[in-house]
Amino acid sequence: MTKGPINLAISRRSLLTGLAATAAATVAAGSAALPRSAVKTWDMSTDVLVIGSGSAGVCAAIEARQAGAEVMLIESLSQFGGSSAMSGGVVYAGGGTALQKALKVDDSVEEMYRFVALAGDANPPLDKIALYCEESPAHFDWLVAQGIPYSEKLTLAKGLPMGDESLYFSGTEQAWPARELAKPALRGHVPGVDGMNGGRRLMEALLSRAYTLGVSLRASVSADRLVIESDGRIAGVIVTVAGESLAIQAKRGVVLACGGFIHNREMLKLYAPKLYECSVPWGNVDDQGDGINMGIAVGAAALRMHEGFAIAPIYPPENVLSGIVVNASGQRFISEESYHGVLGDAITYHQKGQAWLITDQRSGYNFHQDNFLPVAEGSSIDVIAAQLGFPLGALQQTVNYYNQHAINGDDPMFRKSKTYLRPLQGAPYKAWDLSVADAFFPAHTFGGLHTNLDGQVLSSFGDIIPGLYAAGRNTAGIPTAPYIASGLSVGDCTFFGRRAGRAVAALDGGLS
Ligand SMILES: Cc1cc2nc3c(=O)[nH]c(=O)nc-3n(C[C@H](O)[C@H](O)[C@H](O)COP(=O)(O)OP(=O)(O)OC[C@H]3O[C@@H](n4cnc5c(N)ncnc54)[C@H](O)[C@@H]3O)c2cc1C
Repeated sequence: MTKGPINLAISRRSLLTGLAATAAATVAAGSAALPRSAVKTWDMSTDVLVIGSGSAGVCAAIEARQAGAEVMLIESLSQFGGSSAMSGGVVYAGGGTALQKALKVDDSVEEMYRFVALAGDANPPLDKIALYCEESPAHFDWLVAQGIPYSEKLTLAKGLPMGDESLYFSGTEQAWPARELAKPALRGHVPGVDGMNGGRRLMEALLSRAYTLGVSLRASVSADRLVIESDGRIAGVIVTVAGESLAIQAKRGVVLACGGFIHNREMLKLYAPKLYECSVPWGNVDDQGDGINMGIAVGAAALRMHEGFAIAPIYPPENVLSGIVVNASGQRFISEESYHGVLGDAITYHQKGQAWLITDQRSGYNFHQDNFLPVAEGSSIDVIAAQLGFPLGALQQTVNYYNQHAINGDDPMFRKSKTYLRPLQGAPYKAWDLSVADAFFPAHTFGGLHTNLDGQVLSSFGDIIPGLYAAGRNTAGIPTAPYIASGLSVGDCTFFGRRAGRAVAALDGGLS
C-alpha cells in the first residue's frame, strides 16, 4: 500500500556541491546544542535553513524563498518527500473551498471549526484550529497554484478514493456523536490520481515548485545539533554529510521539519508506550524524532508526546460495518462506522489494545485479507464466545440487546447509521482479531515541539526561542488523539509550514 519517497531528477553530486569537509566534531543526532563559540568558521551560510523535505519543510522553503530569503533545505535520506510522499496526500480543507463550490458541497468555516474543535481531543489547540479553518479556502487555492492536480469529482464511498475523485468524507463526520456536533461536509481533498499516489503527486508538485524558485535542495545531509549564540539565538546547525561534520550558518533562522518519531523505538517507549505496542510504524524511516530532540536540547517544550494516529482500518469493504466491535468483556464501546483513527484510538488507548469484530454471514470479509485474522468461527454466537473465552453470557447479551433494537432501526448506545444497522443473524459467525499487536495496526506520532501560530518554537516558560521555527509532525499541531479525519496532518504541515517559512524569512538576524 505504501510507496517510497519520490526522487526529483536532481543528482546527489549536484546537491552536495559546495559542501566541504570541516573540522567540526562528529556528533550524534539529537545531542546537546553546540555553543556558537565552538564553531570556528562556518562551512556554508544561508538566510534560512529548513531541515526535512516533507510537506511541512518544503512549504516552509517555498514561502521563505518567495519572501526573498536565500533558502537551503536539507534531507537526511537520499530521496526527498518523507512520509508526506508515502501518504494518501489528503488535505482536510473546507469552509467553502473552490472544489467544494464547484461540486456544490455546502460548508462553512463555522461548521468546519465545530467539527475539528469538538469531535476529537477534549483540549485541542483552538487558536491553531480557528486560523486553519478561516484560511482553509485560501490555503486550498495556494495548493492548486503550486501545481497539485485536483479533479472536479467526488465520492460518497467510505475510505480513500482509489479512483481519481478528489473530494470525499475523509473522517468521522457522519458517525455519532460527530454528526450531532457539526453538520457533516465532504472535506477530504486528495490529488486526482488513481490509487494510493496522492502524497507522491502532492510532493512532486511542491518539490518542483521549490526547485524552480531556487531553493537549494540537498539530499543525504543529516542535521545533528543546533548551534546556539550566547544570547540564546539559534545561529545554525551542525550536519553530517558523507561521514563528515559541517557547520551551516542560518542568518535568519532554522526551520525544524523532521517529522515525528514513530521509528525511534526508545523514544516511543519513553513518551508514547501505547503507540509502541502498535504493529506497524507508519511512516518514513527517518521519523526518528531528531528535530524534536534538537528543540528540546535548546529548551523547547514538547507537547502531547503520548498522542498519535493509531489506525484500525476495518473498512472498506463497508459491509463489515454491519458487524459489531467488542472489547475483552464482550461489550460494544463505539459506533463501528467511526473513522478508523477514532476506532483505532479507542482500542489503543481505552481498551488495552484488544478488540474483535464480530460478523455474521453477510458482514464478514468475503475475500482473502491478512489485516485482521479470523480467530473464532461457529454456527452460533455461543460457540464463538466460548472460543474467545469471554465472560459467561456477555457476548450473547451484547448481541441480543443490539439485535433487539437494530430490528427496529435503533442503536440506543452508539446510534449507528441506518445504512449499516441490522440485526446480526446468519451463520457462520466469525470473530476477527483487531488487537494492536497482532492485527494490521499502523501508528504514527502527533507529539512534538510547542509552537505559536507563526511556527516559532516556545520554551517551557512560554518564551520564543529566537531563530528557531518548526512545523509538521515535528510539532504538536492540529492533529490530536483521537485523530478524527484523514488530511488534518498534511493540512497542518502545509498550512503551518507556510506560516513558519514566511515568519522566518521576515526576520533579519543580522548575523555575520
Ligand atoms: C501510508 C501513509 C498514509 C498517510 N496518509 C495521510 C493522508 O492522506 N493525509 C494526512 O494528513 N496524513 C497522512 N499520513 C500522515 C502524514 O503523511 C504525515 O503525518 C506527514 O506527511 C508528516 O509530514 P512532515 O513534513 O511533518 O514529515 P515528513 O513528511 O516525514 O518529512 C520529514 C523529513 O525529514 C527528514 N529528516 C528526519 N530527520 C532528519 C535530520 N536529522 N536531518 C535531515 N532530515 C531529516 C525525513 O527523512 C523526512 O524526509 C499518512 C502516513 C502514511 C505513512
